[in-house]
Amino acid sequence: MKQVVCWDFDETLGYFRPHEFAWAGQTRPAAMPPPRLKPGIGALLESLSEFTHVVTTAAEREYARDVLRQHDLLRHFAAVFGREDGMWPKDYGVVGRYFGIDDLPRHLVIVGNDESDADCLGRPIVMVYDELLRPAESLRTLLAALVCEGEVRFDGCNVEGFSFEYWGNYEARKTYPVVRTILPMC
Ligand SMILES: [Mg+2]
Repeated sequence: MKQVVCWDFDETLGYFRPHEFAWAGQTRPAAMPPPRLKPGIGALLESLSEFTHVVTTAAEREYARDVLRQHDLLRHFAAVFGREDGMWPKDYGVVGRYFGIDDLPRHLVIVGNDESDADCLGRPIVMVYDELLRPAESLRTLLAALVCEGEVRFDGCNVEGFSFEYWGNYEARKTYPVVRTILPMC
């Protein structure tokens, strides 16, 4: 069974905000920059066939599908889960039920740009904290390293250029594993 990468939509796969105006039948503000994709995302999704890719977005599903289609990304995803599917806040149990996966932390990886992309029920699913303009190619080594013997692993994993941490709320017993880029000190 392939591991499932759950990609956030806005500010992860691309900058799509201007599309919201068109979807709503409105003119976008003049100062709004045009939509753009995360650099190299199409090529990465195309070649990263050892994973199943899905989109998990708080946006409306059909809106997200339309935008992904316009950018020729939709074909890379096995499914798109939107807010009406249970992604606002993000409940990855929806993805698990779709694929028949019970143990989510062993088989799912989240890629997102916001703390709200973590599982809303506090299941410790590894979240790759990504930034829009970081080239998608940099995720290749990381995603490959996160899978060991058919399971997602976090503790003991080490990839150059990335920091392995726990975020969340300890008192509420809601902490989750996060991998993020190590940024240069300033
Ligand atoms: Mg986002």
